[in-house]
Amino acid sequence: MAGIAKPKAGRQAPSATPTSVVTGGAGFLGSHLVDYLLAAGHRVVAIDNFVTGSVDNIAHLGGNPRFKFIQQDVTEFIFLEGPVDFVWHFASPASPIDYLEIPIQTLKVGSLGTHKALGLAKNKGARFLLASTSEVYGDPLVHPQTEAYWGNVNPIGVRGCYDEAKRFAEAMTMAYHREHGVATRIVRIFNTYGPRMRLLDGRVVPAFIGQALKHRPLTVFGGGEQTRSFCYVSDLIEGIYRLMNSSTHEPVNIGNPQEMTVHEFAQAIIQATGARSRVVFRPLPVDDPRQRQPDITRARSLLRWEPKVNLNEGLEKTIAFFRERLLSTSLRRKTRSKEN
Ligand code: UDP
Repeated sequence: MAGIAKPKAGRQAPSATPTSVVTGGAGFLGSHLVDYLLAAGHRVVAIDNFVTGSVDNIAHLGGNPRFKFIQQDVTEFIFLEGPVDFVWHFASPASPIDYLEIPIQTLKVGSLGTHKALGLAKNKGARFLLASTSEVYGDPLVHPQTEAYWGNVNPIGVRGCYDEAKRFAEAMTMAYHREHGVATRIVRIFNTYGPRMRLLDGRVVPAFIGQALKHRPLTVFGGGEQTRSFCYVSDLIEGIYRLMNSSTHEPVNIGNPQEMTVHEFAQAIIQATGARSRVVFRPLPVDDPRQRQPDITRARSLLRWEPKVNLNEGLEKTIAFFRERLLSTSLRRKTRSKEN
């Protein structure tokens, strides 16, 4: 068609100061990625609508001439002037409690949002990376999970809004790769933790640490025999950066294979915080996956990546963050009650 420029998919030469667009840039992972990219010399445009992200996560970047923030819902058309080299699509609620509360927004950002982010990448000839998830494996029947496993997802269950949105997002990403030649990458992110998680986001790490720091009982769901494998955020971001700079469009698991039961994890938190807490058992949420452990053979061989931060070290940093958060919240509360 006359007048319509052909997409430059994947053909753009890298610039001296590359420009990255990070959707969900004010979220837990998005904001750590933004910091990493700025440190690596990128110009960064972060987009977020603050549904689950927070201005606190990017406040320290105010005044940085290479950082720009746009408050926008990425399910709407993304208009940006100038060149873009990389699009990192991280926008999505990611905690079961969040996506149970806002299932339609979760489905929309995974589907329409991914479509818009891919459209931006295609239009700019940028490389595109999708933040997918271990949830695409559902309640897995293969253990540990390799990328070749197609998963065991309940499409109409309460977690279906997240799992299926991400599965759709992967399908859409591959379609843009195959049909439009966009240089795409897909990372399947396993449980990740670290500073900037929201204290009340309902996920097990902030939940247990918050409870322990208040010496309250730790709420273990079910019998606590379900397993997870926890990766510290700096390891994850390093793996994702390597993936973007690799040449693989196949999905790659990034996570820490050190697996433990949720009950063992509760004990680890009690020990690491020195809490006088006990464990109490609460009903297991519907469709809660029984086991999860990434097989990271592909990341090891293709990206020469593996996690470096062990659980004690990662927990120490995360606990320090939450301690500080709780302290400043209680100080604010005291000041307010004195003023009133
Ligand atoms: N969990 C728990 N107590 C809590 C929060 C979560 O026992 O207060 C369990 C949850 O049932 C799941 C695991 O911890 O088996 C991890 O939950 P999370 O919400 O962090 O993420 P998921 O891995 O399920 O997506």
